[in-house]
Amino acid sequence: MTGEGEAGQVTYFRKGLGLKAEVEEELAADYTGQLVDLLRTNEYTLTAGDTTVRLAREFGFCYGVERAVDYAYQSRRKFPDRRIYLVGEIIHNPHVNAKLRAMGVTFLLPGPKGFDFSVIRPDDVVILPAFGVTIGDFESLRSLGCIVVDTTCGSVLNVWKRVESYARDGLTSLIHGKYYHEETRATASQTLKYPGAKSIVVRNMEEAEVVCDFIEGKIAAEELRERLPNAFDAGFDPERDLKRIGVANQTTMLARESLAIGQRVGEALARRYGQEYLAENFRTFDTICSATQDRQDAVDELLREPLDAMVVVGGYNSSNTISLAAICALKVPTYHIEDADCIDPEAGSIRHRTPEGETVSRGWLSAQGPVRVGLTAGASTPNNKIGETVARIFATRGVSPEFVQTATAN
Ligand code: SF4
Repeated sequence: MTGEGEAGQVTYFRKGLGLKAEVEEELAADYTGQLVDLLRTNEYTLTAGDTTVRLAREFGFCYGVERAVDYAYQSRRKFPDRRIYLVGEIIHNPHVNAKLRAMGVTFLLPGPKGFDFSVIRPDDVVILPAFGVTIGDFESLRSLGCIVVDTTCGSVLNVWKRVESYARDGLTSLIHGKYYHEETRATASQTLKYPGAKSIVVRNMEEAEVVCDFIEGKIAAEELRERLPNAFDAGFDPERDLKRIGVANQTTMLARESLAIGQRVGEALARRYGQEYLAENFRTFDTICSATQDRQDAVDELLREPLDAMVVVGGYNSSNTISLAAICALKVPTYHIEDADCIDPEAGSIRHRTPEGETVSRGWLSAQGPVRVGLTAGASTPNNKIGETVARIFATRGVSPEFVQTATAN
């Protein structure tokens, strides 16, 4: 889709701004990581002395994030004199977001009632993030006449299509996701295209079980609402809206949990209404994006090896990073760090996220004896930040980055 303003000016960009080659060098300078390149050419392994770092084979920037960041740089290049706004964060990475701020991009942050677009003027440029925005926000922005650069990832658009088809066919969309996440909010809003269509969001299997208990008649609607206060959209009536269900998921959830939830909801409907009922009244579709799936599979593969620790790099609010850390934590001591500087080699400590909040662990790598550390990064982490993390892991063991390069070359 392209759009034109009154003076024939293009006001909607969805496939780039024609300046890809022009920003390539700048992007490479800002985000390439030498140590990561070295890891790649060295079978994803760097060893120096008795310290080994193993990188998962799929990690870091995904195609959707690369494209979103690329379009943001292109926007700055194409409109050097205009005010540029971003709806929320382009991706959940503090380093990338700081770079954009330094380029003069202003972040619009949501208030309790959502985004306030009153500051936007028709000659402003507004970038939509890779997670997309709600239908309401999209329409508001288009009505303002400003230039919209839409970086919504194609994989997110696929989920939207799925949810839209459920809504069109009269099924309630049950979305495995985080109710507060931009992507899930945008996905749920797709049902608004069809009057009367409804959506419900469950965060994990535990919440899905509550819904299933209601479907199977084990708990009343009141208890359902009490236990899942944030799950329902406006006007949701559990008695009416949990009879015909289509399951989809936020693209970055734990794939195995999404599949299990789809299956569990189908079973609950079958128990309540009989197996034949499912054909017309239940659908489930795995809408995990391939980049998320590939990263989760690569981590599963890496975890088959003996590892002393696993470091997962990515924003604390990055859904796909949290999923990766959850997989690792089942097998090995895992440290989800927001950025390389969470590792303090001098103090021998690491600052990391836990489900209870951020904490600092000291002596996380033993000072003596051989150590193997696994490493991966969420889809919004650039290679230079992964490389810095590698350097700090080695430094914690008293190995300088220069020595790593030399040791590997020998
Ligand atoms: S994580 Fe998946 S859906 Fe999200 S931007 Fe990346 S490729 Fe797209």
